[in-house]
Amino acid sequence: MKLLSRLRAGWAQLAPGEFAIGAACCPFCGPSLFVRLNHTESGLRCVRCAASSVHLSIGLAVAQTLPDLSERDVCELSAAGPYVAHLRRRARSAAFSEYHPEVAPGTTWQGVRCEDVQALTWPDAGFDLVTHTEVFEHVPDDARGFAELRRVLRPGGRMLFTVPLSDAEHTVERARLVGGKIEHLLPPEYHVDPFKGDAPVLVFRDYGRDIVQRLQQAGFDEVRIMRPAFALDWAPLRHVVSARAA
Ligand SMILES: [Zn+2]
Repeated sequence: MKLLSRLRAGWAQLAPGEFAIGAACCPFCGPSLFVRLNHTESGLRCVRCAASSVHLSIGLAVAQTLPDLSERDVCELSAAGPYVAHLRRRARSAAFSEYHPEVAPGTTWQGVRCEDVQALTWPDAGFDLVTHTEVFEHVPDDARGFAELRRVLRPGGRMLFTVPLSDAEHTVERARLVGGKIEHLLPPEYHVDPFKGDAPVLVFRDYGRDIVQRLQQAGFDEVRIMRPAFALDWAPLRHVVSARAA
């Protein structure tokens, strides 16, 4: 039973004083129950489809920005999970990819197309919506990455994404690539990538509010930082950045 194994995995995360449960409509699986096992972002789950806080935030933001995907061509920079399954069902077309440093962009590894967001192999202006979650803090040249996503979007198309976002005015660069070598400007910080067996992935920067200007410089307008509306106000949802291809 999938549900039982999820509950068992959840038990390990449970902080009894922080537990909450409530019914709401999941953007992926419809009427469902949501549990908060603890106050961390990974502590929230949809009981039916296991959507996490990040999945839920991007799913709600997409539903609130583009309610009907049936006439939209969508590109998402991941290839598994309830959000990907939702796009497969709802969008006119959906392209999925993961990043793997040892796989040539545009080719397939373990059944998944690999792409480097700094050098995408998709043609210009092929998508109405591009989305990504927790990707850009790991991209060495994020200006190039944003410009590439602008290139593959049709004019007027939307980009919606999450990154760890602080209230600081300016983005803090933690590392940079110099002549192909990583130079650390701050003590290295890593996240894990489930696509590569939970391999550690370096965090290149901590984004601040100037992400808006960074996107404008890459050819986006109507940039805003939204907090998706959700019936359960105790759910720790993420901010979602919304930008329009100018
Ligand atoms: Zn769900």
